This record gives sequence, C-alpha cells and structure tokens, in this order.
Amino acid sequence: MKDERLLIRETAVDRVDVDGALAAVRGFLNAPRESGSLRSALIVTPNCEIARSALKDADLRAALDAADLVIPDGAGMYLSSKILGEPLPQRMAGIDLCFEILRLCAAEGRKVFILGGKACAPCFSGWSAGKSVAQLAAQRLAEQIPGLKVCGTRDGYFSDAEEIGVVDQINESGADFLVAGLGSPRQELFLFRNLKDLRCKACMGVGGSLDVWSGCLKRAPEWMTRCGLEWLYRLWQEPRRIRRIASIPGFMAGVLLRR
Ligand code: UDP
Repeated sequence: MKDERLLIRETAVDRVDVDGALAAVRGFLNAPRESGSLRSALIVTPNCEIARSALKDADLRAALDAADLVIPDGAGMYLSSKILGEPLPQRMAGIDLCFEILRLCAAEGRKVFILGGKACAPCFSGWSAGKSVAQLAAQRLAEQIPGLKVCGTRDGYFSDAEEIGVVDQINESGADFLVAGLGSPRQELFLFRNLKDLRCKACMGVGGSLDVWSGCLKRAPEWMTRCGLEWLYRLWQEPRRIRRIASIPGFMAGVLLRR
C-alpha cells in the first residue's frame, strides 16, 4: 500500500476508507509472527499538527514513514487532500477508527492493552476515584463493546528507564493489539522504538482518545465534527492547545503553495 500513498507536505498517508483500513488491520492481526522475525504493525493517525511537527522532527518523520497504516486524522488533512486535487476517500478521525478496530478485536477474540493517560483520573462525583484514565477507558469501552477483552492497562507517565518494564508488561499480558495514548510525538516515538520488542500484532497511537473514552474529556457535538470544527471544541476544553492550533493555517498555506 505504501507506494500508493498521497503526500501531504512530506507526510505520506494511505488512501483508504474505514472498510479499507479495517481490512488492513484484520491482515495485521492475522499475520503470523514466526520466531520474532516480523515486527508489530504500526498504525499512526497524523493530523495537521503532527504532520507539521514532522517537517522539523526527523525521528517523528522516521516513525511516520515506517508505519504500516497511515490514517490522516481530522478535517485539515482531508481538506489538504482536496486542495492537492486528490481527495481522500473519506474524512476519518483516529478515535473513530480505533473504536472500530476495538470492535473488530472483540469480534475476533483478540486481546487489547490500553496504555496512556494520567495515573489518577480527575475525579467527577466520586465514580472515578483511584482509577487511572486507562482503567476508566477500558471499563467504559467494555460497556460499549460487548466481548471486548482488555488484558491490561498502564498509565502513560513513565521514565525512559521504566520503558523496558512497560514493554515487558504489555508482552506478558498477551495482547494482540496495543492502544497507546501518550500524546504526540511521544506515542509514535515509543511505538517505533519498540516495534521489534513488542509482541502484539499491531499497535496504534491514539493521542487524547483515552481521555474521551474515560469520560475525562467530552467529544465535540456531531454537528461540529461534521463542519470540521472539532478543533474549536478541543480548544475550548484545552486552551493550552492554542499555539499548536495557531500553526495550522501556516501548514495549510504550505499545502496550497505546493499544489
Ligand atoms: N500523555 C501520557 N504521557 C505523557 C504525555 C501525555 O500518557 O507523557 C497523555 C495525556 O494524559 C493525554 C494524552 O496523552 O491523555 C494526549 O495528550 P496531549 O493532549 O498532550 O496530546 P495530543 O492529543 O495533542 O497528541
């Protein structure tokens, strides 16, 4: 699939719709891993902010280029493909695709490990007391996806020295699919660095999705997502994102220039 990718400001993305992406993931989950010769498949979902960071960050670029499935996330990347005159088959959000992959895992009896988020979730009305964001996300996902097998969770705040232990924990859980919500570029770099050591069949960076699934953050209303305004809702909830979001018009102007 790699040679058919669309280049959006040096980030090569796959021209697939949800069904195409799920077919690729089914292939990853069913691929044999003989004696450690193959590595875990890497799924990334770059949005404009990530694609822009990769222009300056060679490690992030290497991670994106090495990915087996690159799903452009958000309205900005979709609009960029239109500007380039090669519209992607459909606008996709990484969080929605990951949810569908989790449904696929449940249907096929695959085990899932959830990594990332704070060790202690912000406490609303006591129901989250003492639980991590990953544990809450696992609990709420299991309520929505019958048969989902979450075989382990871990918060996303660990040191470099602890990284090997985290990889061991994931491997010992027997996970087939790893969901990593460590924020970007940390999740892409963590996954890329450990692809050969991770024994899961596939792994995916999901940014702040765990915060949404756990109920710690709200997703934008559907009409805002439909209008490509999800970023505005996120900004309202997390004003600290202003600098990153402010860089997007410059990125899009670069796409226009390169048309
Ligand atoms: N996060 C984490 N470990 C870190 C930094 C961030 O697990 O070292 C988590 C953070 O708690 C949040 C998610 O990563 O759940 C997304 O963080 P952020 O909003 O900074 O990243 P983005 O969504 O922009 O990629």
